[in-house]
Amino acid sequence: MKITRLAGLFAASALGGAIVAGDAQAQDTRFISMGTGGVTGVYYPVGGAICRLVNMDRREHGIRCAVESTGGSVFNINAMREQDLEFGVVQSDVQFNAYEGNDPWDDEPFEELRAVFSLHAEPLTLVARADAGIEHLDDLPGNRVNIGNPGSGQRALMDTLMAEKGWDHGTFSLASELASAEQAQALCDNMIDAFAFTVGHPAGSIQEATTTCDTVIVPATGEAVESLVEQFPYYFPATIPGGMYRGTDEDVETFGVGATIVTRGDVDEDVVYTFVKAVFENFDTFRDLHPALANLQPEIMVTQGLSAPLHPGAERFYQEQGWLEEDS
Ligand code: GLU
Repeated sequence: MKITRLAGLFAASALGGAIVAGDAQAQDTRFISMGTGGVTGVYYPVGGAICRLVNMDRREHGIRCAVESTGGSVFNINAMREQDLEFGVVQSDVQFNAYEGNDPWDDEPFEELRAVFSLHAEPLTLVARADAGIEHLDDLPGNRVNIGNPGSGQRALMDTLMAEKGWDHGTFSLASELASAEQAQALCDNMIDAFAFTVGHPAGSIQEATTTCDTVIVPATGEAVESLVEQFPYYFPATIPGGMYRGTDEDVETFGVGATIVTRGDVDEDVVYTFVKAVFENFDTFRDLHPALANLQPEIMVTQGLSAPLHPGAERFYQEQGWLEEDS
């Protein structure tokens, strides 16, 4: 009995030793979370692709990356500010306005915001029911339009566009605030006539709407759009390719922003270095993980569409690659 107990004790302490060693390793693991968007957008699968690449080598570097589906760009900025997320996917206009402290962050610049790299283009995509008689942005007034949930980048962009047009919520017979994952079903259930989504292509949400019911993607052009493109560096004219979605065979002219990855200045330099290294050292794999990424080029991703200062961990890697001047 005594011997058994001793043996048991010995076994327990050996196990204890193993647990302690395991704990020491676990303490070394650093967890990072990335805020994305709705599950049928592009941010969410692209965030998943990035985390998968980071996690591939997690035994070497001890960093474990996880993605969260969120309300979008503005939500991601606010959550990063609250220290709830370390990384976020955000529109280039949202990055600019958060760093500068412009609307909706009036007078409260997010000084710790740091740029990591830019991603795909996100054209403003206006999807209307085919039976709604909407052929252009200018036909939206008087209709039921989903202008986006308040945490989303499309809502930030629509608020700017509506102000430029002299429109407000009363311009529409209904201005709904559905999240991107809900808008396709609302359109096809005839709860709304159109929705606005700032998103890369092809996007799950647009595929869902255009294959579930008869729809048309309509242009967003005209004086107000031209004026915005002229006034702000982060807006550019954009085209949604004809034939990509059912019901829209011709190219659609619109304008858009870029998607970008951001972090905070206090996120460890080695973590950000490891994060960007995982993406750029596996770049072909990364590009193949989502069709919206097909045209990305590293040199452009690290120099364009970014307005907050680059995070030093990202900068170090880009300089090593010769994509940035050593003293830039
Ligand atoms: N651009 C949208 C936003 O900032 C998200 C698009 C997506 O989910 O891919 O909220």
